Amino acid sequence: MEKISIIVPCFNEEKALPLFYEELSKNLKKFPKEVDFEILLINDGSKDNTLNIIKDLKNKYSNIEFISFSRNFGKEAAIFAGLENASGNYVTLMDADLQDPPSLLLQMYNSVKNENYDAVGTRRVNRKGEPIIRSFFSKTFYKLINKITSFDMVDGARDFVFMKRNVVDAIISLKEYNRYSKGLFSFVGFNVKWIEYENIKRVAGDTKWSFWKLTQYALEAITAFSTAPLIFSSIIGLIFCIISFLLIIAIIFKTLILGDPTSGWPSLACIIFMVSGVQLFSLGIIGQYLSKTYLEVKKRPIYIIKEKSINN
Ligand code: UDP
Ligand code: MG
Repeated sequence: MEKISIIVPCFNEEKALPLFYEELSKNLKKFPKEVDFEILLINDGSKDNTLNIIKDLKNKYSNIEFISFSRNFGKEAAIFAGLENASGNYVTLMDADLQDPPSLLLQMYNSVKNENYDAVGTRRVNRKGEPIIRSFFSKTFYKLINKITSFDMVDGARDFVFMKRNVVDAIISLKEYNRYSKGLFSFVGFNVKWIEYENIKRVAGDTKWSFWKLTQYALEAITAFSTAPLIFSSIIGLIFCIISFLLIIAIIFKTLILGDPTSGWPSLACIIFMVSGVQLFSLGIIGQYLSKTYLEVKKRPIYIIKEKSINN
């Protein structure tokens, strides 16, 4: 018997969830008879009616299970909870807003089953319908992170992936607190097939990602997967040392040989501003890594469950 676990993080998705389930179940009917499904809805501390809708769905359909957090822990925590609790020999992650088309599921399943792939990832070929400024920053982020990490982060990659059990186990074995799933997925490697599709707007409700949240997420990704910023600040420090050394020699030369005592505080003030700016900047970079280390060292749980329908 084959079983596919479908993990769906839900945060304030009361409007989208019923539409999502309807569309999903239509697509699951296309699968061969011997394939079993488990739809694992993770309620990430929703403030609206999401939990009740999830329970209604659970009462109506036998293939639904749910986990409900004690508060909002974020999408990454919801994904992790899903992966830890999924029992299928295949696992897939989907958003509740239908931005990850369920119509691709069968194709993904076939690729993993018949084409010798361990996982199938999806990427958006465009960002149609997204604010231009958000697209611009996303693109810049991917360019940057690909330069400073040693493995490939696919631009436009979604969390919508279909994995065999071995890939799931590899991801679960990474217990880090600061989780960036797309990075973890690239990190574990394996034989991944990428399929592309055009961006789709969410069916109902609003995006949960503000510009500020996305910026924090990007910083998280960078500190989690690269130490390049630390090297960068060391190099700037070194360059400044060399420049100041040359300037000292030049000033000594000017004063002793040419007899011209150095004058002018404006230049001095500018130098102090610049150097202290660079120092604070570097300190900030070190602080980022330190704060992430601090959170890792505390070993707090990634999520806390208040209620769930599965026992394991
Ligand atoms: N989500 C979550 N916890 C959060 C934020 C989002 O579980 O704190 C879920 C949300 O319910 C949705 C998915 O993550 O199923 C993607 O969120 P959203 O569609 O808002 O992000 P976007 O597609 O705009 O990047
Ligand atoms: Mg979305």
